[in-house]
Amino acid sequence: MVTDQYINANELMTQLSAVSVRLNIDYEIDSIAGKTCEIGVHEFKLEKSLFKFLPESLVESVKETLQKSFRTNQKVQTDVNYIGVNNEQRKVRIVSNTVDVNSKVFYLVTFLRLPVKDKIIREINGFESYEEARRQLEISEARFNSFFENDPVMHVSVNPSTGLIADCNKFVIEKLELSDKSDIIGQPIYSIFTDEKRIRCLSLLEKFKVEGKLKSEEMDMVTKSGKIITVILYTVAQRDEYGKIILSRSTLVDITDLKNAQKRHDRKRNRLELLNKELEQFVSTCSHDLQEPLATIKFAGDVLSKLYHDKLDAKGHDYLKYIDEAVDRLTKQIRSLLAHSRIGINAERSVVNTDNLVATVIKDLGKRIIESNAQVTVDKLPNVEAYGVELRLVFLNLISNAIKYSKQGVIPKIQISAEHCDDFVMFSVADNGIGISRQDSKEIFKIFNRVNETNPNKGTGVGLAHCDKIVRMHDGKLWVESNIDGGSTFFFKIKKSYDL
Ligand code: ADP
Repeated sequence: MVTDQYINANELMTQLSAVSVRLNIDYEIDSIAGKTCEIGVHEFKLEKSLFKFLPESLVESVKETLQKSFRTNQKVQTDVNYIGVNNEQRKVRIVSNTVDVNSKVFYLVTFLRLPVKDKIIREINGFESYEEARRQLEISEARFNSFFENDPVMHVSVNPSTGLIADCNKFVIEKLELSDKSDIIGQPIYSIFTDEKRIRCLSLLEKFKVEGKLKSEEMDMVTKSGKIITVILYTVAQRDEYGKIILSRSTLVDITDLKNAQKRHDRKRNRLELLNKELEQFVSTCSHDLQEPLATIKFAGDVLSKLYHDKLDAKGHDYLKYIDEAVDRLTKQIRSLLAHSRIGINAERSVVNTDNLVATVIKDLGKRIIESNAQVTVDKLPNVEAYGVELRLVFLNLISNAIKYSKQGVIPKIQISAEHCDDFVMFSVADNGIGISRQDSKEIFKIFNRVNETNPNKGTGVGLAHCDKIVRMHDGKLWVESNIDGGSTFFFKIKKSYDL
């Protein structure tokens, strides 16, 4: 009971569930009495326009009421149903009056909170009665609870001011090997995480208090028996009607299996990388070591042919020639093997203008193109994200083969094209040369495999193996379509770009 003669305007307004403001003619707030929460508004600030703070659904009605009271110079009141700033249903009575203070006009506006009744509920939500609305609410709560409890991911809510667990679903109890919710409710949130993650848990709690949410945070939980569960954590805030955070609601998704699979995959990849390095080292060492005895054989052969030139008969000279040729071939093959093993080492990927790249390759092959009268046509080629130096080698090998394996007496015609296929670009180098049989076309991409031993332009049989390795470095594929005497088209597909 109020005994004092003087009743504070604020108290009076609060008792009336009302808030009053005085506004100047520009609707800027001059004084406030009562609490804005009564009418579902966060705050009013002095010297700011009233309309900055009102929910949108209330603005028009307030404006109309104020203007009417100004026009009629009388007290005007309007009852309005609206949605408060936290999406709650509200009803308010707006009472506006104008007063003259020192020849200045002011508005006196009072917002009186009214109970939201059946009709209003129906107007807003389509429910027939309070009871109906309550029943619907209970059903929806039961549905939510069942979803919350039986959801096969973990849900935990925490009181952010104490850091204590307020609630969790059954799945948390099951996962942490606990017997009952009472084992966990009221415990500090950090207690469900491993010792190493406890400090991080506290810093995440602080982050949550500031930002009101957490997203994709990886944490390690620990079960009663000490098993570690890796989870991804998402947290949202539950707020009261004034917007203050009252609870955190976290969803924790167990990613332990995924993590283990990733670790297994990483281990395998590391092992493969190691094996690959060892293999490269092996090839490189072998190649180096083999060069030395070969040089000795070559030297001995040369000495033999010089010092014993007159003592050897024709057969002897032939044998020496075979040895010499074989040594030359082996030397070339060893060098090629070394070059093959080195492809990709220190390779750098960048955006490559294949138009320019092919133009330089053609320029480099200029002498051979002129000598063979070859006609090379190039379509418009695209940019790709690729290993430029290595890609150049692919075009160089394919174009040079197209010249090398041309038909005798026929002018070589070479066509270079490209087309887009989803995430890939497919290049092609077509010629009108001697062609390859279906059977041979499967073998030519293997190192040292040659099919035209009769061809006067003897090669080492590594060019296409180089190309194949380089195309694979680009997650691509190299193949040929050809017929004996019908020319060949070499195709290779490489990825347009990479997610780095
Ligand atoms: P090399 O040309 O040194 O023999 P490659 O690896 O470049 O080695 O080619 C392997 C084999 O594939 C060649 O020996 C040849 O028989 C065949 N070949 C390559 N390109 C063509 C082509 N454009 N036309 C016909 N045959 C080809």
